[in-house]
Amino acid sequence: MNTKEIPYKIYLDEQEMPKQWYNLRADMNNKPAPLLNPSTLKPMTAEELSQVFCEELVKQELDNDTPYIDIPEPILKFYKMYRPAPLVRAYCLEEKLQTPAKIYYKFEGNNTSGSHKLNSAIAQAYYAKEQGLKGVTTETGAGQWGTALSMACAYFGLDCQVYMVKCSYEQKPFRREVMRTYGAAVTPSPSMETEIGRKILAEHPGTSGSLGCAISEAVEMAAKQDGYRYVLGSVLNQVLLHQTIIGLETKAALDKYGVKADMIIGCAGGGSNLGGLISPFMGEKLRGERDYQIIAVEPASCPSLTRGKFAYDYCDTGMVTPLQKMYTLGSNFIPSANHAGGLRYHGMSSILSQLYHDGLMEARSVEQTAVFAAATEFARVEGILPAPESAHAIYVAMEEAKKCKETGEEKTIVFGLTGTGYFDMFAYEKFNNGTMTDYIPTDEDLKQGFDGIPRFPGNEF
Ligand SMILES: *Cc1c(COP(=O)(O)O)cnc(C)c1O
Repeated sequence: MNTKEIPYKIYLDEQEMPKQWYNLRADMNNKPAPLLNPSTLKPMTAEELSQVFCEELVKQELDNDTPYIDIPEPILKFYKMYRPAPLVRAYCLEEKLQTPAKIYYKFEGNNTSGSHKLNSAIAQAYYAKEQGLKGVTTETGAGQWGTALSMACAYFGLDCQVYMVKCSYEQKPFRREVMRTYGAAVTPSPSMETEIGRKILAEHPGTSGSLGCAISEAVEMAAKQDGYRYVLGSVLNQVLLHQTIIGLETKAALDKYGVKADMIIGCAGGGSNLGGLISPFMGEKLRGERDYQIIAVEPASCPSLTRGKFAYDYCDTGMVTPLQKMYTLGSNFIPSANHAGGLRYHGMSSILSQLYHDGLMEARSVEQTAVFAAATEFARVEGILPAPESAHAIYVAMEEAKKCKETGEEKTIVFGLTGTGYFDMFAYEKFNNGTMTDYIPTDEDLKQGFDGIPRFPGNEF
């Protein structure tokens, strides 16, 4: 098909929106390792997991076999408020870069929460409501997840308690107020409300908090209150499953125009958007139907895939969560103050970790000033002001497009534009003032994190 016929934006019709999520695990030969109970080191049973998570979500978490899972009607209805999301052909960027590459991006920032996180938030809130729960607890770092979850809880009439990393609570008052506008109770973490919060405050007075610590607090509060469960915005298999709506729509849009992607690029924090974007493509790759080059992009300041260990580790600082096998920097690793808050997590989805370990995808780490330079260039030609997280993918997509200019290759590059950056203007201000710095942890810094990874037979790394 002639490229001229491809519109700047490919919109699917509502009826073309996928009605099932795709469970990539069904096509994986090496399944992701099971979550372990930290006290027995045995795989977590559905019953144990149900004390923390909703029952239906536990089923999804443990299901390695069912390839397609129906999206319940009320979730589809909510999705229609902001989906299908457009797949944009970045004609303006291609022109600016003078590249023969064809660049596409899937834009997930078209909702009030400003990111893809709403795709899983609404699913998790729905299953909590179905189970007759009163409410949910969660953590939020930069605030995107908390915002998405508060929107989802407001829609289904659930109580929503958010533990927000203290430095974000103070530096991002607007995100905090969006959450409160949607009815969530927002507490700066660490707080005096939980045992783990009090312990952390006693040991580190004046700490500005971390995601791992906020998770511990949220898990503790879910366990303490009747009718409450904990929900998590990334990392887990269930979250990745919900996010496959991104990849399924992307593939449907490309198929509609007979376009085949060569390269798929996404930023990776806990791995949910990237996992969701690549799932249908990776499925083809695993079934031997087609090959794709798949690239995860992470900040050089928090390099879980590129420099982490593949081992069982805790998902939180307080060590109250199950152990997950993943690429990790150690649950007590606190990354330097990078502005892409959503990418500052010590671990990675176990599905993506396994795929990466098996050589089915690549990973690159990039420094934040280069990322913001790419973000700025992108905003000026494509119009959208990207989230700093998303700009990691933009940076690598632009690098690859520039390589195509040198080689003359007409590669088709698809990347995930996960969200908008309107609440990140302090970071943009630093970049604009020339005061943004880069920090790459030394091997010595990383060793401290690795020393905190639990050691037990079978967990050598
Ligand atoms: C949270 C977030 C990310 C990273 O999370 P993943 O689970 O790795 O997708 C990326 N971009 C934006 C805009 C986010 O809010």
